[in-house]
Amino acid sequence: MRALTLAGTGGLEQLRVQDVPAPELRAEDDVLVRVRCAALNRIDLWMVGGLPNARPTFPHIVGSDGAGEVEAAGPAARWRPGDRVLINPGLSCGRCAACDAGDESLCTSFAILGEHLPGTAAELVVVPAGNLGRVPEGMAWSEAASFTLATLTAWRMLTGRARLQAGETVLIWGVGGGVGLAALQIAVLLGARAIVTSGADEKLATAIRLGAAVGVNHRSGDVVAVVREETGGRGADVVVDCVGEATWTGSQRALRRGGRLVVCGATTGPAVTVDLRRLFWHQWTILGSTMGSRRDFAEIVGLAHEGRLWPVVDSVVPLADGAAAYARMQRG
Ligand code: ZN
Repeated sequence: MRALTLAGTGGLEQLRVQDVPAPELRAEDDVLVRVRCAALNRIDLWMVGGLPNARPTFPHIVGSDGAGEVEAAGPAARWRPGDRVLINPGLSCGRCAACDAGDESLCTSFAILGEHLPGTAAELVVVPAGNLGRVPEGMAWSEAASFTLATLTAWRMLTGRARLQAGETVLIWGVGGGVGLAALQIAVLLGARAIVTSGADEKLATAIRLGAAVGVNHRSGDVVAVVREETGGRGADVVVDCVGEATWTGSQRALRRGGRLVVCGATTGPAVTVDLRRLFWHQWTILGSTMGSRRDFAEIVGLAHEGRLWPVVDSVVPLADGAAAYARMQRG
């Protein structure tokens, strides 16, 4: 089968389309999916550069998100050939204490397609039946493929972790990214007031159309000052930060006393500092979050079926142009 693969770590020049062996059903509940679209995530760029805890076998198939049609299913899988499915790329063991508690993204052997396992940017991929959801009516393949990773991550951040409430104010850094856009849609859905940032005015305009209350260009504007002004000097109840080093100080300065800061990424670097005196005096809560549980997945797929969550697609390219698409994402 054809697949977009990494020949090794380094740069985007390591990406190439090539023929690789097709995957096969292994477990009774495995499902073979014929991928119609795969989507790009920041995680792929981390894989290109090389991650300390991911040691893929090269050539490594990239891509965590995807959607397609069921080609074949094991006897214990409830899916049938021809079913239109979207993929939850987080795989868990189903046997550890975290899995028993329904907290699959805390599974001791949690793994992500495209990171620890072969990815979705291929003609075929095998996933457990529980990692599939039905594609909503009217949702294009490109949209279905773009939905899960970003939406699932943002859903867990805002609901299970930060417990964002109606009427609260949330600051979302980098609303042009997948998680930022999903976080905005979820904040609006929950009845919260979203202040969003981007380095591009056209991305802010999109965010306003999607329901953001205020957009700030973080290249030309003072994000902390705007948040203070918009909250009567108090600060945001919740801050969503996937950016890391570049925004960390601003995130703390924008947070109210007793506020929650939730983190799912470190695009600009992982090394930050916390002044413990400010942490305890302001009684902040700092929360890490990764992916989501199977219940989170079922909830977001249900909301997509109701038309209340829907991904935003930038552009669609053929597999052969995959490397160029990653270059576009890398440029922001
Ligand atoms: Zn487990």
